[in-house]
Amino acid sequence: MRAHASVLHLDLDAFFAAVEQRDKPSLRGKPVVVGGVGGRGVVATASYEARTYGVHSAMSTREARSRCPHAAFLSGRFHAYRDTSKVVMALLRAASPLVEPLSLDEAFVDLEHSGLPDLEIETVTAFAADLRAQVREATGGLTASVGLGTSKFIAKVASDLDKPDGLTVVPPGTELTLLRPMRVSVIPGVGPATAERLRRAGIHTVEDLEAVSLDELVRLLGKAHGGGLYHLARAEDDRPVVPEREAKSVSVEGTYDTDLTDRRLMEGLLTRQAGEVAGRLRKHGLSGRTVTIKVRLHDFTTLSRSSTLPSPTDRTSTIARVARGLLTDLDTSGGVRLLGVGVSGLADWIQEDLFGEDQEDEEVPVEVEVPTSRQRRTWAPGMDVVHAGMGRGWVWGSGRGVVTVRFETAESPAGPVRSFAEDDPELSPWVPQEPAEDPPP
Ligand SMILES: [Mg+2]
Repeated sequence: MRAHASVLHLDLDAFFAAVEQRDKPSLRGKPVVVGGVGGRGVVATASYEARTYGVHSAMSTREARSRCPHAAFLSGRFHAYRDTSKVVMALLRAASPLVEPLSLDEAFVDLEHSGLPDLEIETVTAFAADLRAQVREATGGLTASVGLGTSKFIAKVASDLDKPDGLTVVPPGTELTLLRPMRVSVIPGVGPATAERLRRAGIHTVEDLEAVSLDELVRLLGKAHGGGLYHLARAEDDRPVVPEREAKSVSVEGTYDTDLTDRRLMEGLLTRQAGEVAGRLRKHGLSGRTVTIKVRLHDFTTLSRSSTLPSPTDRTSTIARVARGLLTDLDTSGGVRLLGVGVSGLADWIQEDLFGEDQEDEEVPVEVEVPTSRQRRTWAPGMDVVHAGMGRGWVWGSGRGVVTVRFETAESPAGPVRSFAEDDPELSPWVPQEPAEDPPP
């Protein structure tokens, strides 16, 4: 715990839904639910208007539809969220060299290194207020809730106290007064299972937890977890703000308009990506030991799995084999929106070919056809489209061979709705030009 409230936690409010409302003027002030829209879909984010009907993230979309049938259910546009996140993270990095992103819409900022004249309450409060105004300006009106405290734990609790669009400073010395009446689930690491175990032991609030001895907690929850909770219950948290390190890796990823469910297709895509990664490694005279796959599910959960080889490789066949193996461990039955392959742990030398193996890559080239919206005629609700005559818009709904589009953008007023045959050649998905990610070192 620090002497000053110099840890800042920023959390964008209802992020995915807020981006949709920014870019779709007709949805401003209305309930919006972003997430999986299929049968097994899960809510990723609900706008505050939808939350008043009891819709919240991680709820099944089916349940959300029954609670708020008139909400706009959108399948989400990851590119828009990523681009907006980049803008915000760049602002935070301009404010302090120590920024630790937790997700697309959340980060810690260490104010001890931000060049402020002092870290008194007035100074850090003014700094946070200015930062919030900058975020709103740079993102086209998104709001962020900010918390300031003497540790990461307290800053994160604080940012949640006055959501949305709030700013809360917890003055040094008042941490326990704030925490004691709160439920134990406010403590990082206390998920439903731990909370239930504590509840059965009669521990409901942080104050209850504070009264439990270290021995008792260790007996209840194990050494690491129990010990950690013992300290957090006393607001003792010295975890530093750790900036994201530049990962040295070569990777390739693809995002898909429709949820991929076919395993063979996914394996084919990974193999093709492995080939591209291997090609880039060879071109730059690099090889690496750790193969990673990245998989984004239909509800935007992003998973990565890695495997480290005994020696560095730059071969398509090896990278592809490991990547396909990593995929078999994941449950992708709900559909996949992004697949990627990367190689890290790079060495700028190539392993001597001791066994005289052919340097040629023996992997048989694979023919994979990625289903695009054009081929499959899948028009996901919320997706960006462009019509030759009408211009930019988004898919309002589709079915029975018809796709309905609302023609509007962030800069336009709420626009008109028109329907087209779903194979209308004038209508196509709109995708922004993506800069090549992760350039080779
Ligand atoms: Mg958020």
